[in-house]
Amino acid sequence: MCDLTKSAFTTKGRLINSEQFDGLTSSQAFNAIAKFLQQQNKGKRQVNYRLRDWGISRQRYWGTPIPIINCQNCGEIPIPEQDLPVQLPENITLYRSSSPIKSMPDFYKCICPACGDNAKRETDTFDTFFESSWYYARFTCPDNNESMLDNRTDYWLPVDQYIGGIEHAVLHLLYARFFHKLMRDEGLLKGNEPFKNLLTQGMVLKDSTKMSKSRGNIVNPQSLIDKYGADTARLFMMFAAPPEQSLEWSDKAAAGANRFLKRLWRMTHKHIEKGRVTVPDDVNTLTQSLQKIRRQSFKTLEKVTDDIGRRHTFNTAIAAVMKLINKILKINDDSEQAQFVMQETIEMVVLMLAPITPHICHELWKILGHDDAIVNANWPKINVFTSSQGDIDIMVQVNGKLRSKISVFPNSDDVTIKMLALAKEGVLRLTQGKKINRIILVPKRLVNIVVANFD
Ligand SMILES: [Zn+2]
Repeated sequence: MCDLTKSAFTTKGRLINSEQFDGLTSSQAFNAIAKFLQQQNKGKRQVNYRLRDWGISRQRYWGTPIPIINCQNCGEIPIPEQDLPVQLPENITLYRSSSPIKSMPDFYKCICPACGDNAKRETDTFDTFFESSWYYARFTCPDNNESMLDNRTDYWLPVDQYIGGIEHAVLHLLYARFFHKLMRDEGLLKGNEPFKNLLTQGMVLKDSTKMSKSRGNIVNPQSLIDKYGADTARLFMMFAAPPEQSLEWSDKAAAGANRFLKRLWRMTHKHIEKGRVTVPDDVNTLTQSLQKIRRQSFKTLEKVTDDIGRRHTFNTAIAAVMKLINKILKINDDSEQAQFVMQETIEMVVLMLAPITPHICHELWKILGHDDAIVNANWPKINVFTSSQGDIDIMVQVNGKLRSKISVFPNSDDVTIKMLALAKEGVLRLTQGKKINRIILVPKRLVNIVVANFD
């Protein structure tokens, strides 16, 4: 207990002896008292940010020159626009103790643009955050030499998906938002935020520790690429862990990734050697077991679409494709019908893996009979009927309003149900190009898709 004769009660609780505020919790009282004071004209709300000033200059050579001239008569004078940009000299001698331009009169001696007297050019450079805080905006119009940004900026921004290391999670993102809001206030761009989504990547570990030169546990991915090719290196890294977690470098796992790609290669060639594929007039005439495989491949597609597109869990996407391949490897059927299902499934597998292992998929796509490169192919369409047509009706709402209906199996998983709902025509129309904030699922009854900026 707090001795109120000695000090104030400073922890949270409920108010007593406070007249109309009696019984309120600390946070309720916080608002109620602020409102009361404001009504009485005795005070106003103010948000205080615990921010400190930022010293933007650095005493080093590597950086953007600060475009200021220091004049003994006029003080700090900005360099006239026609003289921008100030460029660093390259004929420098590097010293241990200070920036080389601090002892280069050719660089710092100048004339004050205001009074014409001798003056000194600033030799400090900007903190590197000065460039990293707005490069994403400049990337939208790098060839514009007349202005910083142009109308292409509003077309491309905000960045849909920002990817960075955890070490950038605070400072860089904070500064980038400052710069963005400054550029907005200056009318250089519209929009309040620079990035829509952030993914922070994990690190690559070796023997459970961070790779470092001093520990001598650095692995160069080039040796893996030399041995197995880039596809194996990519597949191994994406399969080892979800992107935000650290991944343990393992030669054994890399070999496993290579074996998987070889199996896919052999399976595709074996299928092609069997000859022509005829598409059946009616897929409902396929045997039960072939229909089951088709359903499985479309279910896999649904999962992979969601894993890659929304969850960014490439490892679970790859695992789902591996599972599907194991299923079709067991098909022991040389009929025309089986050939059709094999062709359809392998094509789907190759399309699903193409973002992860693009080179082998490019080759396999050609082998499967396509003239155009796989990079130009569309992502396969989820076949709603084949994948999950069942006997339970589920209502589909968008922002609480009934828009469509789907039928699912009693054992359909949540991902499938959500994907089916999203694929409905009436839903697509309302959600395309918009950010989906949440998908609420009431089992066996309804799916509600909550979309941002809904009108
Ligand atoms: Zn001057």
